Amino acid sequence: MNYKMKKIHNFSAGPAILPKIAIENSIKALKDFYGTGLSLIEVSHRGKEFVEVMDEARKLPLEILGLNNDYETLFLQGGASLQFCMVPYNFLNQKAAYIKTGVWAGNATKEAKLFGEVEVLASSEDKNYSYIPKDYKISADADYFHCTSNNTIYGTQMHSFPDCEIPMFCDMSSDIFSRKIDASKFDLIYAGAQKNMGPAGTTLVIIKKSLLEKITRKIPSMLDYRTHLNKDSMYNTPSVFAVYCSLQVLKWIKEKGIEKIEADNRIKQQTLYNEIDNNEFFYGTAAKDDRSWMNVTFLMKDDKHNEKFLEMCKEAKIIGIKGHRSAGGFRASLYNALELDSVEALVDVMKNFKP
Ligand SMILES: *Cc1c(COP(=O)(O)O)cnc(C)c1O
Repeated sequence: MNYKMKKIHNFSAGPAILPKIAIENSIKALKDFYGTGLSLIEVSHRGKEFVEVMDEARKLPLEILGLNNDYETLFLQGGASLQFCMVPYNFLNQKAAYIKTGVWAGNATKEAKLFGEVEVLASSEDKNYSYIPKDYKISADADYFHCTSNNTIYGTQMHSFPDCEIPMFCDMSSDIFSRKIDASKFDLIYAGAQKNMGPAGTTLVIIKKSLLEKITRKIPSMLDYRTHLNKDSMYNTPSVFAVYCSLQVLKWIKEKGIEKIEADNRIKQQTLYNEIDNNEFFYGTAAKDDRSWMNVTFLMKDDKHNEKFLEMCKEAKIIGIKGHRSAGGFRASLYNALELDSVEALVDVMKNFKP
């Protein structure tokens, strides 16, 4: 086969692979936005065309997650990292409860401490974040409980969520729209687009409207959820390209259906973990019950072979599988847009590995 013709298998953790159709539609809009003869990125965000884009982009997440109009959607900037600060700024009045399941959860905790008391109910730091703690009790007197559904760096995922009497908030940056969940358990969900929903530059926030009554602090306008909600997510100029491209991904998700997406994701992760468990050279790092379907982390039993394995991957046009600098080894991200044949290509290299 012509080397150049071979498909590139993109296992990057984020920014990450997107559905081809979303990229193609975005290219079209960059050239000619809905027949205006102008580019998406050179027309007013207040024009009728973009207002329609924003409206639809705000509706689809609720539709896909089966949420009613008790909820609202925003597309903000500043990444998921800004939500680490906005969430407590708006809602931590006295005390909040967090679980620390990885680097991102840790960053969320750190920011929250700037606004009040933070109770870390549980942490898996003792075992390098290789599992999801389950033995904790959520304090009834906390303002909210915050969790991270998928730990992108360490490859662990919450496969169930606790019953929670107080408002439950979740950072779903790396597994949103990857499986069917009961989203109505949550009062606030946020996700940086660049893992599983779109390009970098926008962050999806889904918020239960009744929460807003709980805001007591004076908050700078840009960091106050009410500012953005009152202006239909257009208080200031939104990231027009990131929102447009995210909308194309959301349409693809809706058309494919979350059940089918989940079924495909199930097979992809089974295929890869099965190889990891049966291959004499590799082992998985996450506790089996808590393994992520999105970010598969694994090591070589003898790490002096790491370079050789990466070299073989490169040869097979597999990219983005080097582990995060704080976890080491390898990480294969199996986001929604990654197809099974890419997982099979990686498994093939693993099967053929010889030191
Ligand atoms: C990548 C990531 C973040 C940080 O996202 P930014 O948009 O870069 O701020 C936060 N949480 C999780 C779970 C992530 O995977």
